[in-house]
Amino acid sequence: MKLATIGVGNAGSKVVDRMVEFESKTNRSLCRHVHAINTARTDLAKPEYIPEEQRVLVGDTNQKSKGHGVGGDVEIGAEVMSADVDEIRRAFDDIEIHNVDAILVAAGLGGGTGSGGGPVVIDALQDMYDEPVYALGILPGEYEGGRPALNAARSLQSFVNKVDNFIGFDNDAWRAREQTIQEGYESMNRELAARIVTLLAAGETDETDVAENAMDSSDIIRTLATDGVSSIGYAATAVDAQPEGLLDRWGGSGANAEDHLDDASQAKKIKSLVRRATNSRLTLPCAVSSAERVLVVVSGPPSEFSRKGIESARQWLEQEAGTVEILVGDDPREGSSRLAAAVLLSNVSNAPRIETLQNQAVDAQEQIAEQEAAREDKINDLITDENDDLDPVI
Ligand code: GDP
Repeated sequence: MKLATIGVGNAGSKVVDRMVEFESKTNRSLCRHVHAINTARTDLAKPEYIPEEQRVLVGDTNQKSKGHGVGGDVEIGAEVMSADVDEIRRAFDDIEIHNVDAILVAAGLGGGTGSGGGPVVIDALQDMYDEPVYALGILPGEYEGGRPALNAARSLQSFVNKVDNFIGFDNDAWRAREQTIQEGYESMNRELAARIVTLLAAGETDETDVAENAMDSSDIIRTLATDGVSSIGYAATAVDAQPEGLLDRWGGSGANAEDHLDDASQAKKIKSLVRRATNSRLTLPCAVSSAERVLVVVSGPPSEFSRKGIESARQWLEQEAGTVEILVGDDPREGSSRLAAAVLLSNVSNAPRIETLQNQAVDAQEQIAEQEAAREDKINDLITDENDDLDPVI
């Protein structure tokens, strides 16, 4: 499909930057239009692949931001973005909407700009265009503490209520203990970019190249049209890798046997790849059986595709996911050295991390309210005399 892709805030812009990098390195053409929007000038300088002229600084004349960000305050993020919504609309005016199928807004939900400003950006896009709007939302790690959890749990509601689909990414699930936070983010952003681009870029290949089971952008749009929360699984393998044991079992007598071997081994390879992708670490850990719809894109050189493999992968998924709404299709990438499967689990109802996030957020909200009340009491104690004999002047 063809996307207009908009990164809001620091994490959102970094992920979009990695998406553009991944598609350019793998000869895909997904993001027909990109924008990075931020309240912090320094963060806006970070992307390497988003062109300078596509970066929008908002709130630089706003007293609460002045180009230095919103300090992780979700309310200020929403306020600053709303105050500059005309500027954002002007930037979106140059989206060539006839050239895109959908719009994707990426943001980290634990901070202020992406979390508070993202929903404002989505409103502006929905006012201007009829195309579906999807969100790619990053949930903060539990270790980040109560405030990011509270920001995220609140803005998750705003995002999901507004968009046609919310694709989640859980920083907790992807954190590697041995990495620094920055190193961790770098590799997470790359992993996320590979998944989302492999999935959504399907259907954008040369017409002459169209394979038998080619996935179409309308299939992707239909699978995403659930108004819910989704997750992506992914697996990839080198194209010359053979599934173990097959060579021995079918091993070589004459041309027919070899044809048979090729066909059967390719089918097996596709099925096991789809299985691995479904059972892989998902962008947002969830129960596969809780998905309403499932879509699988098998991407790689067409010589590796197998109709039988696609069919048996679909049958296996039907059992696994317990739904009949399953689409499995190819995305031919001539010359690619890898065969990859991206599995979209659309509208999942069982994602335990969301509940733990909400619990952490509720605790944080209570703690913040208690601290504020205690602080008010202390200030009152400080400025009033012991017996409350004195009155303020006015
Ligand atoms: P904003 O600019 O105010 O929206 O805030 P940030 O995007 O800097 O941070 C918001 C949240 O996103 C943080 O609480 C982290 O959970 C997460 N985050 C920040 N940077 C990255 C990143 O590069 N990758 C990932 N996966 N998460 C990030």
